[in-house]
Amino acid sequence: MTQYTLNHFIGGEEHTPIRGRYVDGFNPRTGQVISQVARGDQDDVALAVAAAQRAFASWSAMRPLARGRLLTQAAQAIRAQARELAALESRETGKSSPQALGEIEGVAQYFELYGGLATALQGETIGLGAGYHAYTRREPYGVVGVIVPWNAPLNQSARGCAPALAAGNTVVVKPSEATSSSVLALARLLIGCGVPAGVFNVVTGIGPEAGEALVRHPGVRKIAFTGSLRAGQEIGRIAADRVLPLTLELGGKSPDIVFADADLTLAAPGVLKGFLTHAGQVCLAGTRILVECSIHDEFVAATKQAMAAYRVGAADGTVGPMTTRAQYEKVQAYYAIAQAEGAVAEVGGRLPDDPALAGGWYVSPTLYTGVDNHMRIAREEVFGPVGCVIPFDDEAHAIAIANDTDYGLAAGIWTRDLARAHRVAAQLEAGQVYVNEYMAGGVETPLGGYKLSGYGREKGLEALHHYTHVKCITVRL
Ligand code: NAD
Repeated sequence: MTQYTLNHFIGGEEHTPIRGRYVDGFNPRTGQVISQVARGDQDDVALAVAAAQRAFASWSAMRPLARGRLLTQAAQAIRAQARELAALESRETGKSSPQALGEIEGVAQYFELYGGLATALQGETIGLGAGYHAYTRREPYGVVGVIVPWNAPLNQSARGCAPALAAGNTVVVKPSEATSSSVLALARLLIGCGVPAGVFNVVTGIGPEAGEALVRHPGVRKIAFTGSLRAGQEIGRIAADRVLPLTLELGGKSPDIVFADADLTLAAPGVLKGFLTHAGQVCLAGTRILVECSIHDEFVAATKQAMAAYRVGAADGTVGPMTTRAQYEKVQAYYAIAQAEGAVAEVGGRLPDDPALAGGWYVSPTLYTGVDNHMRIAREEVFGPVGCVIPFDDEAHAIAIANDTDYGLAAGIWTRDLARAHRVAAQLEAGQVYVNEYMAGGVETPLGGYKLSGYGREKGLEALHHYTHVKCITVRL
């Protein structure tokens, strides 16, 4: 396959990296190099921030109705180019076309939602009695840095950028060096929709160089970061010195709780979707499957049966590869850890042996039983298609195990008893709780973490507020 080259997109045009350096991009289905990706550093970041600063004055001064209209037009253009964008995303992430297309539809919806909400950013008047007039204004920060990982690059970029732009900020996006194509395509698309040059910029490259430079740049006034706990902590340390506002969307080890009264014909496939979607490379994945003891064996049998539908391969409808070699190696390391801890691999637990997959970064969908919540396989994020079944005795026991984790991103509940569903949901330490459908929700529903899963919120009206300052003006009359 001919290799392609990806450059930065700054001030409305493509920019080669100032130092002329590139990193290899890979096809995860074969492990082969397919691209050269600009390796940005502080000088490229400075150029992008300067472009974003120049664009900020007119973008932030634009009537919100007009700004919103441009974003809504972008949503239409994204839908019109969904197949091309999905193909770019699929080539670099290894995800199936339907999965990629579903995420691109989400991208369009983010622009649609926040385009419509641009006029909803309103201030308040505050009563101080006669003699004063006090009111608030919601003002954009200025230049926002959006740093995203490789698992859903365009969707996560849009999740941060669409509300930031609607609120009047300009952005510099730093995608993962493994998956920059679709974000660069969005940058070109936005110019085609009439979004002014410099409003949406992309600097590609690696985290410790381009990413860190973005966090350190004094012209950047807020960072929205999605990625690992480790990188989130590093960014947090730099941000602490700069007193820089942050949104951190980090990892998870989310519980998916199956009560004995659940409809197992829904719960078994639903639980599988919860940790096998995109081969488990989903931050929300429900990887700790808590099952009431009385239905443990029945549930495991039903789930094993349903897992047969998840075949590994490169074609649509199969479980795709890990997006990066590092992730491929990490999953294998966890197979060894689980085995050493005494977990029983009911399905998977080793690499697939199909010779047709040789060279690609494929791993097997895996279901472990015999897992105790204190084992590493139950506590550490694998970020692959690996689920652990952990039995519980009663409701209180389920809640205790569910909350016994450093993370707190998501949780699922499967039950026919809606009173119990609400009672348990209220006690779970997680930013989102799904009842009878794991990962239910949409661009409208706020997303974020408790504990080590992060802070701040993305999505919904909630996120729009996170991209503004509140200024209070008080006038002595
Ligand atoms: P990562 O943290 O290594 O990288 C994420 C992004 O941050 C990349 O663009 C990377 O280049 C950049 N980066 C890395 N180190 C940096 C630094 N020191 N300073 C600035 N930028 C830096 O994560 P990953 O391996 O690409 O993605 C997997 C992780 O992302 C998982 O832990 C997963 O749970 C998490 N994730 C969270 C969400 C969410 O919404 N909560 C969504 C998807 C993925």
